[in-house]
Amino acid sequence: DVDPRMNSKLREMFGSIPIVTTTFDKVMNWARASSMFPFQFGIACCSIEMMHAVAIKHDMDRFGAGVYRNSPRQADLMIVPGTINAKLAPRVKRLYDQIPEPKFVVSMGSCTISGGPFQEGYNVVKGLETFAPVDIHVPGCPPRPEALLYGVMKMQEKVKRGESSPVTVKPYEIRE
Ligand code: SF4
Repeated sequence: DVDPRMNSKLREMFGSIPIVTTTFDKVMNWARASSMFPFQFGIACCSIEMMHAVAIKHDMDRFGAGVYRNSPRQADLMIVPGTINAKLAPRVKRLYDQIPEPKFVVSMGSCTISGGPFQEGYNVVKGLETFAPVDIHVPGCPPRPEALLYGVMKMQEKVKRGESSPVTVKPYEIRE
């Protein structure tokens, strides 16, 4: 959002404010998508595949999203990889809340999407979306690093378009 005082200044200068703000938003979205900073944390087995995605073979940094931050306050992308149990959920929510806006969330693996193989368990949360918004779902148990890369690339496409609706990356899309 542009400061209202700046709005009037720009209106004086250019007359047509929507053209200026739209272009500015596009540049900002492009910059955000091209330099995403994932928050470094893992929950369960899917985390191993997440680590693999940033290692030499797959090198997630090629797509501008490979520099993990150790503090949520320095990140804008939260990849949640693993089983969320009832005791852990408030901590995950707190970490999510500590990430500054605008922030983006990738739900990685069946456990994070729906509880996965443990969804009958009394202490397993039935999906990250029960307490935090999710932008991209990457299914699998575990998803391969290529699937996560594909999910992150889909996330970047969404950020560039300025969209916020959730997307599920389908397995057949990943194989293409
Ligand atoms: Fe582990 Fe599968 Fe759950 Fe990932 S989805 S955390 S691999 S059990």
